Amino acid sequence: MHADMDIPPPPPPPIEVPPPPPPSSDLPPPPPSDPPPPPSDVLQSAAPWPIAKKRKLEGAIPKPQPLSIEELLAKKKAQDDAAAKPKFLSKKERERLALEKSQKAVVPPPQPEKHAPVANGRPNGHGVHAPNGYAAHGPPPTGPRRGREGPPSGPASMRQNSLPNKGYDMAPPPPPKAIAIVDGAQTNGKKTAETDVEAEMIRQRYMGADTNTSTFSAKKKRKRTTEKKFNFEWNIEEDTSVDHNPLYATRNETNFFGRGKLGGFADDKDLAVARTYAKAVEERDKEAGKERAVEIMEMERRRREEGGRNGIDKHWSEKRLDQMRERDWRIFKEDFNIATKGGSIPNPMRSWKESGLTKRLLDIVDSVGYTEPSAVQRAAIPIALQSRDLIGVAVTGSGKTAAFLLPLLVYISDLPALNEFTKNDGPYAIILAPTRELAQQIELEAKKFATPLGFTCVSLVGGHSIEEQSYNMRDGAEIIIATPGRLVDCIERRVLVLSQCCYIIMDEADRMIDLGFEEPVNKILDALPATNEKPDTDDAEDAGAMQKHRHLGGKDRYRQTMMYTATMPAAVERIARKYLRRPAIVTIGNIGEAVDTVEQRVEFVSGEDKRKKRLGEILHSREFAPPIIVFVNIKRNCDAVARDVQRMGFSSVTLHGSKTQDQREAALASLRNGSTNVLVATDLAGRGIDVSDVSLVVNFNMATNIESYTHRIGRTGRAGKQGVAITFLGNEDTDVLYELKQMIGKSALSRVPEELRKHEWAQQKRGGKGERKIEDSGGFGGKGGWGITL
Ligand code: ADP
Ligand code: MG
Repeated sequence: MHADMDIPPPPPPPIEVPPPPPPSSDLPPPPPSDPPPPPSDVLQSAAPWPIAKKRKLEGAIPKPQPLSIEELLAKKKAQDDAAAKPKFLSKKERERLALEKSQKAVVPPPQPEKHAPVANGRPNGHGVHAPNGYAAHGPPPTGPRRGREGPPSGPASMRQNSLPNKGYDMAPPPPPKAIAIVDGAQTNGKKTAETDVEAEMIRQRYMGADTNTSTFSAKKKRKRTTEKKFNFEWNIEEDTSVDHNPLYATRNETNFFGRGKLGGFADDKDLAVARTYAKAVEERDKEAGKERAVEIMEMERRRREEGGRNGIDKHWSEKRLDQMRERDWRIFKEDFNIATKGGSIPNPMRSWKESGLTKRLLDIVDSVGYTEPSAVQRAAIPIALQSRDLIGVAVTGSGKTAAFLLPLLVYISDLPALNEFTKNDGPYAIILAPTRELAQQIELEAKKFATPLGFTCVSLVGGHSIEEQSYNMRDGAEIIIATPGRLVDCIERRVLVLSQCCYIIMDEADRMIDLGFEEPVNKILDALPATNEKPDTDDAEDAGAMQKHRHLGGKDRYRQTMMYTATMPAAVERIARKYLRRPAIVTIGNIGEAVDTVEQRVEFVSGEDKRKKRLGEILHSREFAPPIIVFVNIKRNCDAVARDVQRMGFSSVTLHGSKTQDQREAALASLRNGSTNVLVATDLAGRGIDVSDVSLVVNFNMATNIESYTHRIGRTGRAGKQGVAITFLGNEDTDVLYELKQMIGKSALSRVPEELRKHEWAQQKRGGKGERKIEDSGGFGGKGGWGITL
């Protein structure tokens, strides 16, 4: 209220009162019959009853009767006409008018009720104190304004209680619009209300809007509040993230990549140096300076190009090794599905040429026909060459054997050749495998590379006499490949010592643990010279430190331990933790996934007879060329199924633990050399066995766990070739159905059949990891044992 009094007086009204402006949308004229209720804050002071009271009190005061709108308009018209004619007032007349006016003004205004509603807020004497002074001398107010000449009832009138005379000394505050409406509506009915509204509008138009009036509009308010909802502007002070996260404490300016630089990488400083240098050369060397300067700048340009933009854009295969950047290596690893874990892991090798293998070894690799390294070879060989401990997990048939054999041969090449004295100190390296056949297979593969280098490989497996084997080692053997059981036998019989063995490889490591080989494996590892154990410090990850010890003899040489498998259950990790030091872990693809070159099919066929019939159909379909491997779960079934296969007109052999070693080897050999079409085998042939071009694996019985299944079907689709695996399923296989469904689901080549997808046992993972028991497994054979007897 007081603020209103400081407001400068409104601009002078024009001499002629114009006709009322058309009603604006902001303030529509109140409907004739039912004027809208005023806002609540106005209502408080505009309660109906005090007004009625006030009217009574006002009775004594001469007050012009409010004019009807017709009268008003008529009057205004007359006035307009009069105004149209120039009318000059004499000084006397003007004085008289002013006197009249001032007399009117001095009539004391009625004391408004405490709660009297405000009227137009303009005291009667406003004419006297009109800022332009016109009202005092001009014609009496006419038109709409005339109607407002009533007792003071507005805010100003209320102020008079506490501040008498205030209304006379100062320009009164303009009346609130809404109050005018209320007043009009409550005094003389609808017409008066209309007049007042009209008057108010005119007043507003010429006097300016009243800032003190309530401009409440529900519509506007709604608009304001809704607008607020979408107003996302906020003050910087409201940002509390600065306090929470230190990252936001220091904000960097946006830095445009490569702005002003060559591909963002070339160093402007280098360019400036080159320029200065070229300029200096040009100035000093009068004869050839110019040419030399051009040459210098050209060299700089080439350097920038190779290291800069061009270096980035090229694919890794088009780059020199020294141009390979972190990003290229990342792409390279993605291309080969290589994942590594562990500290200070060297980059994989892009080709045999860049492998760091000796020239002789590379020639042998070439002669064997391995034109390109496989993914696991690319990743594992550089790590192994750094004397790092390693766990290599790669799908079946991906060349893990060569991945561990080649760095092993480099290691041995670095050692002094065995002589008369050292040949009896045992091998330089041992390779452990879970089955005799696998050990022999590794021996064959190792011989491919080792024999040309002049190294001796001997396999120690059950089924052959120890005498014969120790005879084979008579001249010393750098590499021994063994099944854990037989190796322990040899150590315990003192046929063999491992006093200079510092290189241990465990192939199919998880299978060895599976078959109960954990104990003999521990025995073997404990038989190795303990002095060679790597420290469990960062040194074990330090290529330099490892390298230094590699060339030291005897007890100063560190032991290197590596494990390879296609599946990696927890048991292997237990052994790994005990015997490996800071191992690098190389994974090709996803652990436990079947190789993606095998199409997996499953069929629900229950009963031996139906399965045999179905096997006959498959073999006769001519879809699959031999060799074919059929897996059964129990030894007895091997012979029965093999006989049936023969009856169907196909040659067949069996491979299981009850066969003599000679029979076993002969069976595998006949399959390899093509004299037999079908091998019927137990899980004995499930691991690591590499027979070229197996087109089909049939699981006459489903494997008892998913790892075995993965390895069995991995007998086909090896070395990048394609293969098919058909598995017969029955009620006995419920425990593995879920995992089987998952595995087939991940294979791009395979389709999960409806029956498996909807099978109630395939909906969620079952408790156990399938049956662990391996029928007829004789473990590692114990003392004097003969290896496993699957
Ligand atoms: P894994 O042990 O991973 O199951 P293997 O070492 O038995 O696989 O190798 C599977 C087959 O791939 C073998 O016949 C082997 O000769 C062949 N092989 C290995 N490395 C290469 C290579 N770089 N190029 C071509 N063939 C290879
Ligand atoms: Mg293997």
